[in-house]
Amino acid sequence: MYSENITKLINQFEKLPGIGHKTAVRLAFYILESPFNVAETFSKTLLEARSKIKFCSICYNITENDPCDICSNNKRDDSVICVVENVKDVIAMEKTHEYKGKYHVLHGSISPMNNVTAGDIKIKELLERLKDDKIKEIILATNPTIEGEATSMYISRLIKPLGIKVTRIAHGIPVGGDLEYTDEITLIRALEGRIEM
Ligand SMILES: [Zn+2]
Repeated sequence: MYSENITKLINQFEKLPGIGHKTAVRLAFYILESPFNVAETFSKTLLEARSKIKFCSICYNITENDPCDICSNNKRDDSVICVVENVKDVIAMEKTHEYKGKYHVLHGSISPMNNVTAGDIKIKELLERLKDDKIKEIILATNPTIEGEATSMYISRLIKPLGIKVTRIAHGIPVGGDLEYTDEITLIRALEGRIEM
C-alpha cells in the first residue's frame, strides 16, 4: 500500500510503546508532510539524547553525568537506599521532596510470565553496593503488583541475613479513594501499613 521507505518509517513508529498501527501511520505522514527541518531536528534530538544520556554506574538511574547528581550529592543520606523498579519511580519519589536518601533502580521486576528472572534486573548490582558498611536500611519501593511484591520478597530474603534493616513502603487506599471499592489486596496492605495516631 505504501512505498518501501514510508513502510519502514511506519514500522519504526509502531515499535514505540503505546503506538498502534493507525497512530504510526499518522506520525509517519506528519513527518513526511512537514518541512524537511522538522525531521532533521527530530532525528538530531533523538540521537543526541540517546548518546548523551547513560545509566549511573552506582544506582542505574538515567543521567548525563556519571555518577548521577543524586549519588554525588553528599548532603543526601548514604545510609539508606530506596529500591525502585524504574527511572520514572525515582522522579515520582523526588517530587515528594520527602526522601533524602539514595536510590537503586532495578530496571524491571521478576516476572516468570514474561521470562524475567532475578538475573535480568539489577539485583546483584544492589548486593554489590551493600558491601559498603555505611548502608543501614533498604527501602523496598517496588510496585504493588504481583511482580513487584515477588521482587521485594526475593530481595528482602537476600538482604536480611546481612543484618541490614529492610523495609517495604506501605501501600493502601489512595487519597480520595473509597473503602467500599477497594480491592482485597490493597485493603490488606493498608491494614499492614497502619500507623499509630
Ligand atoms: Zn546514581
